[in-house]
Amino acid sequence: MLSTCCSLLYPAIVLTPIPCYPKSMADRFTPTQRSSLMRSIKGRDTKAELLVRRFLFRKGFRFRTNDRRLAGSPDIVLPKYRSVVFVNGCFWHGHKGCPLFVLPKTNAQFWKDKIEKNKARDVKNISTLVSEGWRVFVVWECELSKRSIREATLEGLVSEIWALE
Ligand SMILES: [Zn+2]
Repeated sequence: MLSTCCSLLYPAIVLTPIPCYPKSMADRFTPTQRSSLMRSIKGRDTKAELLVRRFLFRKGFRFRTNDRRLAGSPDIVLPKYRSVVFVNGCFWHGHKGCPLFVLPKTNAQFWKDKIEKNKARDVKNISTLVSEGWRVFVVWECELSKRSIREATLEGLVSEIWALE
């Protein structure tokens, strides 16, 4: 539990990877399906984001969402706690060692470049935010997928935000 909490806080963002499936897993989607899936994953207000927001709201937090004035338009901004939360889709943000991050076989190089670019941008955004005095938390999509993990993740996030008040 404690390690989960601590790992949410930048710079110790690296989480213990969940054992992954073989990377050679065939792409289950046609390129068209894959593109539309990507769009839906990348869109605002994803299911994972809503889940985190609803949880924080129930805990009494009030926040802004998708604040474009800040680097990377953080999904959730908690001004009172000088904290921001990114809810990262594992594919788009290239969650290392994660079963949800499997490069499609089709156009593999294209996706690899794209994800690498996203990762580089994430690092840049986080360091900008940190230099501006924000605390940055990253919650990964896979940490919200199963109920047991989800609760630990969200409770961990909340206690980290409170602990460092
Ligand atoms: Zn993941």
